[in-house]
Amino acid sequence: MDCIFCKIADGTIPGDIVFENDKVLAFRDLNAQAPDHILIIPRKHIPTMNDFTSEDVVIFGEMGQAAKEIANTLGVSEQGYRIVVNCNDDGGQTVHHTHMHFLAGRQMTWPPG
Ligand code: AMP
Repeated sequence: MDCIFCKIADGTIPGDIVFENDKVLAFRDLNAQAPDHILIIPRKHIPTMNDFTSEDVVIFGEMGQAAKEIANTLGVSEQGYRIVVNCNDDGGQTVHHTHMHFLAGRQMTWPPG
């Protein structure tokens, strides 16, 4: 499958991996928008949030759990962080393999751009 995140997950192309287990993988974003900008992806190719099925509920939970563990590892749990999932054009999604953006290390603003 011609999916850049699947290729990072299977090791075909390199990623700066910060967390992994049998369900999810997390690696640093190449174009970081915060001091810590990490992408948390399911190993399963799920193109968008629209494609999550009831069977994938566990995977989304695993992604959330990974975010918590990454925050602990980076030492940002108390100061805080932001989780973002973009979906399709209006959401600003550019890579069609669902992912959580984990952003930390600076004060976030609201509303988002
Ligand atoms: P989105 O726009 O929500 O689909 O997010 C896609 C993200 O993937 C962007 O922030 C890109 O900077 C990032 N990205 C694209 N290719 C790579 C890569 N090979 N390694 C790490 N991050 C990437």
